[in-house]
Amino acid sequence: MNSEKRLALFGATGSIGRQTLDVIEHIGGYKVAVLSAGKKADELADLALKWKPDIVTIADYNGYKILKDKLGGSDIRIEVGDDAASGAAEQADYNICVNGLVGVAGLLPSYHALKRGITLALANKESLVLAGEILNKISRVTGAKILPIDSEHSAIWQCLRGENVDDVARLILTASGGPFRETPIDEIKNANVAQALKHPTWKMGRKITIDSATLMNKGLEVIEAYHLFGITEDKIDVRIHPVSIVHSMVEFVDGSFKAQLGTPDMRHPIAYALGYPGRLSYKPHDDDPINWPAIEFSMVEEQRYPCLYLAFKALRTRGMATAVLNGADEAAVELFLDGRIKFGDISRLVDMALNAHIASKAEDIEQVIEADSWARRFVTEQFKGI
Ligand code: MG
Repeated sequence: MNSEKRLALFGATGSIGRQTLDVIEHIGGYKVAVLSAGKKADELADLALKWKPDIVTIADYNGYKILKDKLGGSDIRIEVGDDAASGAAEQADYNICVNGLVGVAGLLPSYHALKRGITLALANKESLVLAGEILNKISRVTGAKILPIDSEHSAIWQCLRGENVDDVARLILTASGGPFRETPIDEIKNANVAQALKHPTWKMGRKITIDSATLMNKGLEVIEAYHLFGITEDKIDVRIHPVSIVHSMVEFVDGSFKAQLGTPDMRHPIAYALGYPGRLSYKPHDDDPINWPAIEFSMVEEQRYPCLYLAFKALRTRGMATAVLNGADEAAVELFLDGRIKFGDISRLVDMALNAHIASKAEDIEQVIEADSWARRFVTEQFKGI
């Protein structure tokens, strides 16, 4: 049997994608089978020239000519359009999937990888937020593993190794608190895009950086943690930890805590997922606790970060409420980034969508996608009236 690791990388030109390529360049032993991106055709073409995948996919039709010009003459297949990534996930020849796509675009690639019984190293939060129950069910049937690539979930996963889930008193996800941690609360609602994009510790894409300012990102992570570890929301807490050294922790029923620590570097959780169940002897950077800043924690104030509380509300509702939460947030963040609504309107619009949504359980992935679209339409229609 061929044991070659054949990687399908979704979101190749994004932060997770590039760092994944950086990790596999160091550890070796991988053939890149698929490189998939949303819009950045030039960058995708350069990566394809270097990694020589079987297939490249790009969502944006404008990218086709660029890819054709740069890759013409090679035998790399070019697939274009919104369905191109999911088509590659469904059909290409690969045996490990890293999904670093942003947003709902990541859902179908996750779905197809798991359906085929292929290990999914998952950085796309929306997959589990939208369809956690469905994807978990598929992974139980096919035996495909879902391995988290997110600093918080990787930390919790590492802390839980060798432990019994019944012995967990609570999970504590840490949050940097974003750029508005110390801003007077009444100023936050009028913050502009530039202020909201100034993230103190992690360098990430625009959508996730705004979600880090509202703490919706942490809310989505709470929902993911529920699906990944089977621990309900009454046993999940969030604490503000500005320096991001403690990536998350677990408290056990005997009052003992386990945490996973290190200077922030996403290549750690990526390498941990790729090395699982072992550890790779690969250090992305030298680190020593002597260089770490003081480790402090504080509570999350609801008035400062209403989006985190909306995520808990959606999770308690179950069913498709979390898909509505996410769709509404994506639409609202887009409006904010376009300068059409105020920062404080993001949480207002998401809350309005949650209140208007009639709770129901998803039977299949199409219903989830429909709930997501409904929430986006709702926000796009409602924002003019606020
Ligand atoms: Mg995270």
